[in-house]
Amino acid sequence: MRYRAPRGTRDILPEDSWKWQKVERAFAETAERFRYKEIRLPVFEQTELFARGIGDATDIVRKEMYTFEDRKGRSLTLRPEGTAGVVRSYIEHSLGGGARVTKLRYFCPMFRYERPQAGRYRQFWQWGLEAIGSGSPGVDAEIIDFCVSLFEQLGIKGCVARVNSAGCKACTPSYNEALREHLRPLLDRFCDDCHVRFEKNPRRMFDCKNENCLALLEDAPAILDSLCDGCREHFDSVVRYLERMSVSFEVDSSLARGLDYYTRTVFEVHYEGLGAQSALCGGGRYDDLIEELGGSPTPACGVSAGVERLIQACDTESGGADVAPGPDVYVVALGDDAALAAAALAATLRSTYSVELDHQRRSVKAQMREAGKLGVGLAVILGEDELRRGVAAVKNMETGNQVETALADIPEVVGRLLER
Ligand SMILES: [Zn+2]
Ligand SMILES: [Zn+2]
Repeated sequence: MRYRAPRGTRDILPEDSWKWQKVERAFAETAERFRYKEIRLPVFEQTELFARGIGDATDIVRKEMYTFEDRKGRSLTLRPEGTAGVVRSYIEHSLGGGARVTKLRYFCPMFRYERPQAGRYRQFWQWGLEAIGSGSPGVDAEIIDFCVSLFEQLGIKGCVARVNSAGCKACTPSYNEALREHLRPLLDRFCDDCHVRFEKNPRRMFDCKNENCLALLEDAPAILDSLCDGCREHFDSVVRYLERMSVSFEVDSSLARGLDYYTRTVFEVHYEGLGAQSALCGGGRYDDLIEELGGSPTPACGVSAGVERLIQACDTESGGADVAPGPDVYVVALGDDAALAAAALAATLRSTYSVELDHQRRSVKAQMREAGKLGVGLAVILGEDELRRGVAAVKNMETGNQVETALADIPEVVGRLLER
């Protein structure tokens, strides 16, 4: 029996995991600057939470959830997205007890039973933000600015936010009717999924992945023309905020998001370098969801994004030139005494620096070759002869300069050369 990772999952191996660390670190740093605090949630929740929170007309709830019964017959589901769990926790712990807006972030795996294909997995990672407790358009703009800032920090240039409104309970019913009226004569030409969407929520037809369906929607009425006064004012204000904050954006009246809970602002941030599937993140306002899930009426806004897609964008932008960071120092040793001295030196240096050494008793030449391959900054060479004289050679791998240094002085010399 040869075991394999389950279909649709994969291992993130050390040759790639450093990229994940880079993205996760940039996300955490940017989130701290924007003051979004981390929340860590269970991997599974009651099934009902997702059915209610995500909407039972969505593809996620209809066909993609990993749902199972536990030993007591309770229906549980591996989280397919982050917002429902965050809102559940917000209500359960009364996080909105203070007057402040509650600003939360997460970075964790999600699970959806989708057909595996390039870049799409059944266990995949998402990062996200939720700002709960304010209906201000400034919150929407802050979250959009966060996304563009994060991508810039990761070296992904030329990102543009696309912004639209999803309306609210007051203005969407008349828009849905106008949309149905426009689409009814064309309905036979839409795919089966769009027929279901037509009945449940015709705006979701804009999310169809079928190009034929998208072409049929081209002349459909735009929601921006049907907004109520409150939604109109909110939308105009978000636009004003984005302009003043110098966030690069455009209004996209065909933008719909795949989840039913959005109200007012919806947005995506796109990176053209990824081709047709260019969205790096998507989000919006969900002013009714907290009440829907049993809390008191509370406005909120959030965003989520796939980490795999973001890493792909980083790779595209760097052209593969980005490499895993190497150690600061490689301690090269030959012979038993030198191996002991090398271990002692590494133990000292590791309080400050990353240090690699040989555990396979290879030749000095082989150790130097490995040091070069790892892209190390300095090599400290402990030969038997040098050791007898109480010295070692410290070699700058970039310039090739080598200085003989008393063993006791090595940490200081290393420190000076690495400029820390
Ligand atoms: Zn409205
Ligand atoms: Zn369709």
